[in-house]
Amino acid sequence: MPVETVWLGETMAKCEVCSNDYDMSFEVHAQGQVHTFDSFECAIHRMAPQCEHCGCRIVGHGVQAGDHWYCCAHCARAEGEHAIVDRAEARV
Ligand SMILES: [Zn+2]
Ligand SMILES: [Zn+2]
Repeated sequence: MPVETVWLGETMAKCEVCSNDYDMSFEVHAQGQVHTFDSFECAIHRMAPQCEHCGCRIVGHGVQAGDHWYCCAHCARAEGEHAIVDRAEARV
């Protein structure tokens, strides 16, 4: 999915998460929609997928299994996705 981040510079824009008016706010263009945030923390809060096992926000690569998202292979396995591993390990 193409994601474009646009810094708004001097333009005051309101964060759509916390409603803060901030002169360093920025827009994130993703999937045909434009989101405005004052910080990456708010952007993550609004846009990052949530792990379906532990509920944390996935801000790294995450693990996708079909339509399901997990923060790590451990969580994917805990939900029954046994084929998922973080890294291939040589078995002896
Ligand atoms: Zn905010
Ligand atoms: Zn998790």
